[in-house]
Amino acid sequence: MNFDLTEEQQMIRKMARDFANEVIQPRAIEIDTTARFPEDIFKEMGKLGFMGIPFPESEGGSGGDTISYALAVEEIGRACGSTGLSYAAAVSLGASPIHQFGTAEQKEKFLKPLASGQALGSFGLTEPNAGSDAGGTKTTAKIEGDEYVISGEKCFITNASFAETIIVTAVTGKDERGKNIISAILVPTDSEGVTITSNYDKMGVRGSDTAEIVLDQVRVPVTNLLGDEKEGFKQFLTTLDGGRISIAALGVGIAQASLDKSLAYAKEREQFGKPISSFQAIQFKLADMAMEIELARNMVMKAAWLKDQGRPFSKEAAYAKLFATETAVRAADEAIQIHGGYGYMREYEVERYLRDAKLLVIGEGTSEIQRVVISRQLGLR
Ligand SMILES: Cc1cc2nc3c(=O)[nH]c(=O)nc-3n(C[C@H](O)[C@H](O)[C@H](O)COP(=O)(O)OP(=O)(O)OC[C@H]3O[C@@H](n4cnc5c(N)ncnc54)[C@H](O)[C@@H]3O)c2cc1C
Repeated sequence: MNFDLTEEQQMIRKMARDFANEVIQPRAIEIDTTARFPEDIFKEMGKLGFMGIPFPESEGGSGGDTISYALAVEEIGRACGSTGLSYAAAVSLGASPIHQFGTAEQKEKFLKPLASGQALGSFGLTEPNAGSDAGGTKTTAKIEGDEYVISGEKCFITNASFAETIIVTAVTGKDERGKNIISAILVPTDSEGVTITSNYDKMGVRGSDTAEIVLDQVRVPVTNLLGDEKEGFKQFLTTLDGGRISIAALGVGIAQASLDKSLAYAKEREQFGKPISSFQAIQFKLADMAMEIELARNMVMKAAWLKDQGRPFSKEAAYAKLFATETAVRAADEAIQIHGGYGYMREYEVERYLRDAKLLVIGEGTSEIQRVVISRQLGLR
């Protein structure tokens, strides 16, 4: 067994860390307080090849692997949860399904601009009445001639206001048992009948765009169907498995940021004539944070490695997502505690970590749903 990163993986991590420290970190407070999506940062990330890390060069990507991509998400998330979330959603949800299930023409037309950073992708699965139970999708896509006519409503969709394409899930028919067939369809956002509004006032990840989408008789060519019409449900479960690795990596990033800030503060802050880091109560908090972060990171790396090996990784992705995101919430909470009253103030940033981390135990399958996934893997029904 070898726990060392390859030279290329180390290089990508360093590049992401430098970019996060120099470009993103100085803007993190502003991105949160203005709740404005940092479009310029994404343009730069595109130029540097971040948007296409896990895709081959022939598809406009940088030819890296899932491990390198997870390392980049961690580093970016360490600086800014909003940027980290939009990054993870663009790559894992907006672009990855096209890489995995798209035809050569779809890759040329839709994936290349996403992977090379010229456009931003988005994935519309959730609906007002279909969240954890995505099988309850109500959006429909009916074939008329050589077009799909799509109608329905999606909510909480990351990046949609800035995206050129959205992968939308919709009911396209019924199977032999009378159950809805759900398919994935590529919808250009400039299609007639698409309305995207971004009015959510969020607790955290405030600079990540989150939008509502109304699809009113939207017509797209049938060639925009992604993958197999009948396998759409399975396809998005596979997409979410991959996405969970990146959300887990984002959790590790926020947890690491919480530890970094807490360690520095604990050494500097004096009470009772000594640095608070000399109190065992504070030391034990820091020790627990460091241990959990290491365990979470190892699990993220294992899930990413399995994916890179082409081996099953669904259970490991759920372990990683569940543990790393709950670690992020705990670490951010403890970081505030270690900072005392100052931690409650925006300027010290740790309160933002907690608000951002809380999204991670909800999005891409809540913690409860991760436990459902793990239970199924244990053969429980
Ligand atoms: C900021 C943000 C960004 C998002 N980005 C996207 C995106 O890009 N694309 C997209 O498609 N969606 C996105 N989502 C939606 C997100 O994936 C859903 O919010 C999430 O899956 C939960 O669905 P829900 O909100 O409908 O909650 P519900 O499904 O209504 O869940 C409510 C509660 O019930 C629990 N629960 C539900 N079912 C079960 C069960 N079987 N067993 C035990 N407990 C259960 C849940 O865990 C939760 O605690 C985003 C959400 C947010 C907030």
